[in-house]
Amino acid sequence: MLSGNKELTAKDLLSRIKDSRYSSIITLLKALNRIGELDKVKVQLVNGASRNFNGRRAFYDASEKTVYVNTNAQYEDGNASSVLLHEILHSITVDRIQQNPELRKEIQEIMNEYQTVYYDSKYDTKLDSIDGHHAMEEFIADVWSNPETINNLKNVKTKENKNKSLWDRFKQFLHNLFSGIF
Ligand SMILES: [Zn+2]
Repeated sequence: MLSGNKELTAKDLLSRIKDSRYSSIITLLKALNRIGELDKVKVQLVNGASRNFNGRRAFYDASEKTVYVNTNAQYEDGNASSVLLHEILHSITVDRIQQNPELRKEIQEIMNEYQTVYYDSKYDTKLDSIDGHHAMEEFIADVWSNPETINNLKNVKTKENKNKSLWDRFKQFLHNLFSGIF
C-alpha cells in the first residue's frame, strides 16, 4: 500500500484505501473523491528516521498542505487505512473549521454531547492549548476514520431530538462543512 516513489496526492492515497471495516462509511469515502482540493494535498512517503515523527505514523502539516507518512511505521492488520484516512481528513477539514465559527460551534456541541457519554481526554477542550481547535480537529478526523467511534455516535440520542443520534447530527455537520458535495 505504501510503496512506490512517485509524487502522490491525497486523492491517490484515498484510492488505495480498500478496507472492509469502512463499509458503513463507503458513501462518505466516495463523496470525498469529489472534493477537488484532494488533488492539491501532497503526500510524502518518508523514512521515519529522516524526519521527526515524534512517534506518530503519519501527520498533516497544514502550512505545507502535505501529509507525511512514515514508511517505517508498524501497522496492525488493517490499521494503515485508519491512520491515512485520519490525516487526509485533517487536510480537508482544518481550514474549513478555522474559517467558520458556526461550524465550530456545531462540532463543539456534538463533541460535548459525545463526551458526556464516552469521555476521551483527546477531545477535552480544557486540556487543549489552542482554544479547543485541536480537540475539534481530532474529533472530526477520528469520527470519520474510526468505525468504533461511529458506532458510539449511533448509540447516543441528541438532546434536542430523541429520534436523532449524534451520528445523524454529525452527518448533517459534514453536509454543511462540504456544502454541495454530499
Ligand atoms: Zn490527528
